[in-house]
Amino acid sequence: MTLDGGANGYDAETFFGQRGGITYNDFILLPGHIDFGVDEVELDTRLTRNLRLKKPIVSSPMDTVTESKMAVHMALLGGIGIIHYNNTIEEQVRHVRTVKRFENGFITEPVVLRPDNTIADVCRIKEIYGFSGIPITEDGTLGSKLVGIVTQRDISFETDTTKKLSEVMTTDVITAPVGITLQEGNRILKQCKKGKLPIVDGKGRLVSLMSRTDLLKNEDFPHSSKNEAKQLLVGAAISTKEADKERLDALVDAGVDVVIIDASQGDSVFQINMVKYAKKKYPRLEVIGGNVVIARQCKSLIDAGVDALRIGMGSGSICITQETLAVGRAQGSAVYHCAKIARKHGDIPIIADGGISNLGHLTKALALGASSVMLGGMLAGTSETPGEYFYEAGVRLKKYRGMASFEAMGAGGAKRYFSDEDKIKVAQGVTGAVVDRGSVVDLVEYLAQSLKHSMQDLGCRTLDILHKTLYNGNLRFEARSSSAQTEGGVHGLYSYKDPHLGLFKQVMDRREL
Ligand code: NAD
Ligand code: IMP
Repeated sequence: MTLDGGANGYDAETFFGQRGGITYNDFILLPGHIDFGVDEVELDTRLTRNLRLKKPIVSSPMDTVTESKMAVHMALLGGIGIIHYNNTIEEQVRHVRTVKRFENGFITEPVVLRPDNTIADVCRIKEIYGFSGIPITEDGTLGSKLVGIVTQRDISFETDTTKKLSEVMTTDVITAPVGITLQEGNRILKQCKKGKLPIVDGKGRLVSLMSRTDLLKNEDFPHSSKNEAKQLLVGAAISTKEADKERLDALVDAGVDVVIIDASQGDSVFQINMVKYAKKKYPRLEVIGGNVVIARQCKSLIDAGVDALRIGMGSGSICITQETLAVGRAQGSAVYHCAKIARKHGDIPIIADGGISNLGHLTKALALGASSVMLGGMLAGTSETPGEYFYEAGVRLKKYRGMASFEAMGAGGAKRYFSDEDKIKVAQGVTGAVVDRGSVVDLVEYLAQSLKHSMQDLGCRTLDILHKTLYNGNLRFEARSSSAQTEGGVHGLYSYKDPHLGLFKQVMDRREL
């Protein structure tokens, strides 16, 4: 409650309790007291009950946003990527495995070939996984005797791609014995100046592989999201369809860390059954339910056993759900009310999903109780998203589409349909294009730094403190009239250059010249 006539704004309970339908643009956060430097702000957070991230940023399971390349980079940057399921089980599993294989201290599932494989096989692997240093074992499997190694150097001048690897591989291989520590392995790699270090057992059988490029990447990305085996964290989405139980098994087998059960309206018997099934069969797998926007829906999924909730219905930048189905909720209200109930019932973390279209929205979502934010549109158009760039009127663009657009549903094929009656699909999303934004590395680092500045202005050094401040009433809110919003943007200039144009802003405002 406010006792000062609003001189210090309003606490969240008063602000959100008195009116509904609040979106991020409808309010502003009032400053706190600063007693620390911006470099002291920590962004680490919980994604789920048992998974932590260094940055509260998740890439959306959309087929124009997250496949292995995006997921690798998100994890390297301290967030996480969720691989979409608008593909076959094999394709989705391959993306998960690619992430799990990346930047391991020890690559425990290296790609291995036989001496009678050809250079063309190496080229194919390079195309799919992006690496070409491949150990060769007697029968082409891990656990069989190491007989050589093929690296880019062995094949770069070969024009005949049908040549057998036995003719080009290096047979005099520097190896290390199983049981060496990561530090010892790193030291050997540095000393011998080789790209790969096969780890073998007493009988010369291949056990794992260490990679110099991984060593370099460890140095480049010291805050990446990893498990104890130094594998990058990765998530994957599944649907509530019965057949996706098979997908779930395959994903778990591939080492996925977390699954998201993906539906626009998560409070369904289909989802509840899937959550219960997944948690019973794989108690150690983290399961995220959603999407939900009201307290009652949250409670259904919390009771079913979810480890986190994904919040948002109709707020995405490509979304037409609210207009088409007349169901959904303004995202600010959804995040605040869902976070509050999730905290009360088991302190379940929530992910604010959709509608983040500027840096301030990111802070606002977290300030409303979210532990992380899920981004689709803001990451679309970066070089790490699936798809090719194309030009329109001289502008370099990439496709970004809703998972419930006609185009994405068509690409998903028959598995997207539940019955013959369901074959008349109603679109809840659109297909569009976004401008080239360069690499997600620069973008995410910029988002994180901007978030640190926001948190400093709010006087909150950590996200835990931010949430405590939210719930003890010290975080203060005020409504933003449309003229306040105009005042809060650039105004009154003949022309200006927006520093964020191209980074995450798509087009110039009408005011900009
Ligand atoms: P969905 O596949 O969950 O639902 C489609 C239809 O199938 C619904 O009518 C649903 O009730 C039904 N259904 C689901 N499981 C079933 C089962 N086991 N048996 C029988 N019927 C079942 O997908 P969706 O909700 O249409 O969403 C499709 C995609 O679009 C998802 O990626 C979703 O995230 C995205 N989307 C998101 C939003 C949002 O606001 N967050 C809105 C619309 C779509
Ligand atoms: P954005 O970050 O605002 O672009 O929103 C991304 C979010 O929109 C996703 O994470 C999904 O929750 C949601 N979404 C994905 N596809 C669709 C769709 O086709 N219709 C509505 N919402 C969608």
